[in-house]
Amino acid sequence: MLTREEVEEVYRRLAAAMPGRTRGAKGPKGQPDAFRSCISCMLSAQSLDRNTAKACRALFALATTPEEMLALDDAEIAAAIRPCGLYNMKTRNIRAFCSALLERHGGVVPDTREGLLALPGIGRKCADIVLSFTFGKDVIAVDTHVHRVCNRIGLTEAKTADRTAQQLEDRSPAWSLRDGHFWLIQFGKRVCTARAPRCGQCPVSDLCEYYALPSG
Ligand code: SF4
Repeated sequence: MLTREEVEEVYRRLAAAMPGRTRGAKGPKGQPDAFRSCISCMLSAQSLDRNTAKACRALFALATTPEEMLALDDAEIAAAIRPCGLYNMKTRNIRAFCSALLERHGGVVPDTREGLLALPGIGRKCADIVLSFTFGKDVIAVDTHVHRVCNRIGLTEAKTADRTAQQLEDRSPAWSLRDGHFWLIQFGKRVCTARAPRCGQCPVSDLCEYYALPSG
């Protein structure tokens, strides 16, 4: 893993090369409130963005609050979210999430990681996305791009996105937390792509552990 000085240098260079958080940046699923952000995040598990968007549109045409959601029967929810797959499991999660939200928080989504993680169906990635995008907290949410980039460069050394998120939080300088997610995701889509990273055009290749490998 890179040293803390090297981690800081990576962020400095990514900040110079990538646009970062732009005005009005929307969460990955572009939902207007915390409740819909949580649900859309749950629906996005193992689903392509376009299928998640389809499922969200259909579901939120029927219900946009936990009360309205619980008034639907399982078959209605499952039919609406069918495009995003795993719809029976996701229907159960949505129902459990809405019940817990009403019972524990009066239907209001909590704005802490602890509170979010205690809700059924909400994992670290969803919690961090909601914290960052809906509540504007300085949190680096880790999706597949961020996870890949961090572990290639050596910012982290983790097999799962959750571990990456934890290590990033421990190792990133405070000033990088607000825009870090955006620099890393933009970099992962434009330069350090999944199949064919553009190492020849990379601003951090001299620091990158993957690049230093004989096969890198
Ligand atoms: S050198 Fe290659 S693998 Fe390393 S961060 Fe840059 S693009 Fe990714």
